[in-house]
Amino acid sequence: MHMQAPREAEILELWERGLARHPIDRALLLCAWARPDLPSSQLPDLSLGAINRALLRLRETCFGSRISAYVDCEHCGERMEITLDTGQLLKDVNEKDTPAEFEISNHRFRVPCSRDLATIALERDIKEASVKLLEQCCLSHPDNTDLEFSSVVAEAETIMANLDPEANINLALTCEDCGESWLADFNIGALLWDEIDARARSLLAEVHSLARAYGWTESEILALSPQRRATYLGMVGI
Ligand SMILES: [Zn+2]
Repeated sequence: MHMQAPREAEILELWERGLARHPIDRALLLCAWARPDLPSSQLPDLSLGAINRALLRLRETCFGSRISAYVDCEHCGERMEITLDTGQLLKDVNEKDTPAEFEISNHRFRVPCSRDLATIALERDIKEASVKLLEQCCLSHPDNTDLEFSSVVAEAETIMANLDPEANINLALTCEDCGESWLADFNIGALLWDEIDARARSLLAEVHSLARAYGWTESEILALSPQRRATYLGMVGI
């Protein structure tokens, strides 16, 4: 599937629409760009792995495949720089969009989607949130059931992680300073949003400088090629 990179004016539009949204909705907004083959009403029902795969591909199209990020060591706090490659993260992924299903004690479940995450977004207690999420993902259960969801949360989470591995991208890291190892959670939605935010703000700063210097409109300035714009910015001393 060939993905078109958003033009600069479209980056600004995405940024403007996402600015006031919750991170879950921002991810869906970006996913809508990355998956024009799907109606946006269907996106909240995609597995979280399908959303993350779309966002990784959008990241690759917009900013390239190499990702540099800073992570603080969980043990000693030392900051280290890590480099990731979207191609590596997208290697051997399954392309299933719909949440996979599984069974525990005659209860039928599916892996979570964005709609489920939204229902627990305000839950402060992590254990409580896990149980609620599992309830949300329960498709059917036998009558007169007495299964305590809290007792199968851990088992369900392991199965979910196997069925939808891209839902949570974990990085096995080792600190260069203290030598300790840990698993860091890599959130492509948050990373991509931060990059789009930075790109939009620098574009607006360029528009601001050139509009002030030459009196051009925003659309006139965005219509200039990046090379011409950079040259004009150099001439006005930016
Ligand atoms: Zn360390």
